[in-house]
Amino acid sequence: MREITSIIGGNPVAAVADAKRLPIIDPSDESQLGTLVEADAAEVDAAVGAARHAFDTGPWPRMPVAERQALLRRCGEVLVAHGDELAELECDEAGLPIQDVRNRHVPRMAQNFDYVASLIAIDTGDALEQIPGYLTLVSHEPAGVAALLAPWNAPLALASMKVASAICLGNTCVLKPSEYTPSSLYRFVELLHEAGLPDGVVNLVNGRGGITGQALSGHPAVDRIAFTGGTVTGRQIMATAATHLTPVMLELGGKSANIILESANLDIALDAALLGIYSNNGQQCLAGSRILVQESVAEDFIDRFAARSERIRVGDPHDVRTDIGPLCYREHFERVCHYADIARTDGARLVCGGGPAPGFDRGFYFAPTAFVAASNSARIAREEIFGPFATILKFRTLDEAIAMANDSEYGLVAYAWTDDLNAALRLRDEIRAGTVWINSPLMRDLHAPFGGFKHSGVGRTGGFEGVHFFSETKSTCIAKRPLELHKLGDDD
Ligand code: NDP
Repeated sequence: MREITSIIGGNPVAAVADAKRLPIIDPSDESQLGTLVEADAAEVDAAVGAARHAFDTGPWPRMPVAERQALLRRCGEVLVAHGDELAELECDEAGLPIQDVRNRHVPRMAQNFDYVASLIAIDTGDALEQIPGYLTLVSHEPAGVAALLAPWNAPLALASMKVASAICLGNTCVLKPSEYTPSSLYRFVELLHEAGLPDGVVNLVNGRGGITGQALSGHPAVDRIAFTGGTVTGRQIMATAATHLTPVMLELGGKSANIILESANLDIALDAALLGIYSNNGQQCLAGSRILVQESVAEDFIDRFAARSERIRVGDPHDVRTDIGPLCYREHFERVCHYADIARTDGARLVCGGGPAPGFDRGFYFAPTAFVAASNSARIAREEIFGPFATILKFRTLDEAIAMANDSEYGLVAYAWTDDLNAALRLRDEIRAGTVWINSPLMRDLHAPFGGFKHSGVGRTGGFEGVHFFSETKSTCIAKRPLELHKLGDDD
């Protein structure tokens, strides 16, 4: 059985006898896979101290960019070389289908490191000469120590983006995975050291959000906090960060509209709607969880959506034929089940699924589910459910679709399907979301900043914006020649 502790200054931390221990549960059969040894506030302090020391005195921030680039690329290569091992660990604890982890998450991990390596080569700052006689230099300096709080729904893909973005400019960091999915990220951090990353650049602490996460986000020596998770937790973290005025980047929830107009290629829109809600076991911030369909094509679309949903293979995440694995942990599974009760009570029409997947005695398997909601004010149309659970709504006109899409506390992404160029451009202009995908499934270009409007987040990952969050911008003004200054107090 695995025992997961912390990694501080490049060294695994030995578990002390009286440390809090938590079982690591396999969501596919509820067996115990191992034990997580929780880091308390003192251990978090040691991890932040190691990161601080590596930042203040270590080689990483002082390394020539070309050398840092080579090491970042090497990290990506080593991770991919161990891709199968990482994928198995992720699949064990997150319950994600093995094919998805191998084919999407593992390559993405390497791309994240490769991308930031390219970016730092062209991040050269600015020289301004607007004012005669003066040269002003604008540079981005690493901010210091970053606290990185990763969620359980895609640990490797999301944490690797955070780590790569945080460290590429020379910062150091402390990563805290979710207590439900610690093992793949433990191995990830070991592999970064095997790739040659200097000790103390990436430190790892494990434990519950309210204990270890709280100690990390409230630590006074942390210079930046980046969090992905639920909106409620995001608010708490921002409040904690306010104590020390620590800047935060929050990637939070969504209830994203997937708008299907009668002018769309409906076959492609159907394929994409199924992927948009069911991929990653439905546990993704960018899920197209509110499917808005134009009335003229709605009933036919709903029938086809139901027929396809019923043929989706729910099962063992290690089986390469599985489309949807179990949800990540018991309380979350129960929460998703409860939304089916809420939907029924609120008068929604069941289209398919509607509860735990049949045929499983153990494990957190939920059937691919869709309800037609009575209106956009129903709870299943407003709250993030975070499972294979689609809420379908009908609309008559484009105006109505745009109003419904925007009538949400969230604004992470939106999808729109239409072959009408004017409609597409109006949707692009009027939807209040950080990313709008038109006739396109969840395609993330790392060059493009990603993040939310409204309660879906603060700040952006990806692009220069995502990396510059982990920096301080410094302006240096230099006089080009000795100045004739006004001589205060010397007026003879
Ligand atoms: P949380 O937002 O609570 O957890 C996400 C991460 O934050 C976990 O690593 C958690 O650690 C950590 N965390 C929790 N509390 C704190 C804290 N006070 N300080 C620092 N870190 C903390 O998500 P839940 O697991 O409770 O899920 C609830 C809902 O959040 C989901 O149903 C879904 O709607 C949404 N969610 C959205 C995600 C997204 O990608 N947008 C990702 C995950 C959840 P630990 O797990 O160890 O407690």
